[in-house]
Amino acid sequence: MHTMLRPYRTDFPRRVQIVEVGTRDGFQAIEGWIPTATKAAVLKALIVSGLRHFEATSFVSPRAVPQLRDGAEVLAELSASKGVTLSALVPNLRGAEAAIAAGVGAMVVFVSASDSHNLKNLNRSRAESLAAVQAVSTRAAEAGVPVQGAIATAFGCPFEGDVPVGQVLEVARAYHAMGIRRLTLGDTTGMATPPLVRERVQVLNAELPQMEIALHFHNTRGLGLANVMAGLEAGVWIYESSVAGLGGCPFAPGATGNICTEDLVCLLHECGIETGVDLDALCAVAREVEQVIGRPLPGQVMKAGPRLQTAPMDSVRTACG
Ligand code: ZN
Repeated sequence: MHTMLRPYRTDFPRRVQIVEVGTRDGFQAIEGWIPTATKAAVLKALIVSGLRHFEATSFVSPRAVPQLRDGAEVLAELSASKGVTLSALVPNLRGAEAAIAAGVGAMVVFVSASDSHNLKNLNRSRAESLAAVQAVSTRAAEAGVPVQGAIATAFGCPFEGDVPVGQVLEVARAYHAMGIRRLTLGDTTGMATPPLVRERVQVLNAELPQMEIALHFHNTRGLGLANVMAGLEAGVWIYESSVAGLGGCPFAPGATGNICTEDLVCLLHECGIETGVDLDALCAVAREVEQVIGRPLPGQVMKAGPRLQTAPMDSVRTACG
């Protein structure tokens, strides 16, 4: 249990919604096949730990992301879960049809804020991507499925460097015009910093006050949780993270994972912010995920334990440092 009951800052949100993205953003980069039953078991264990919002899978081409070709089966395994939102990444109309047929809870569409990343990642221009998003949004509205708009490279582009906030705003306005009311700012390659987070959130809140903002950070430069603090200061109450810090490509040096869900929960609880998550239970799931992946994962609280987890004095042989 966490003991910090007084809020660290009274202007912080009192409760935060965590969107667990490990089975999508994390698993998509894993080469070896993870059986559908294992994916479903991880999601079910995460639900037991108290998480309620998941970007569970994606409906992209199975040739592009073979690991997630079982998206429909994974959602079917979870169909009895009550009070849980299972969203999926959807790049085009074909993906939207598959996601609707699978009973997805929400669709996540995405466009990069920078042209070169969009071309490299999606092999089309931003205008072409927005046209595809429009088609998905229209189809989702017919089916009564909510759409969330993600903006990749919202804090910087690996090919262009800094991305002007105006380009982020441009994509956000396009989403808004399509009726999308939830925006995720994605820090695809870990280029966000606390000042950039504050600037981007302030500009978007001022220009598009009806848009709910979520933040998606990667820990590429060790600034992930510092960026969350900047988001909390700016009033953002939705954060995406991945269990055990899954994510990034295991074969590309420097391509690190999402911010880690247990580490995020630890920080939030210590700041007196509710998450609905049982941190001990979540750490146990994180250690199981490490077994599934078969290599050490970057999460830290899963290894050290919650802050007030104490050890018997005679269990430690020497003091160091
Ligand atoms: Zn990501």
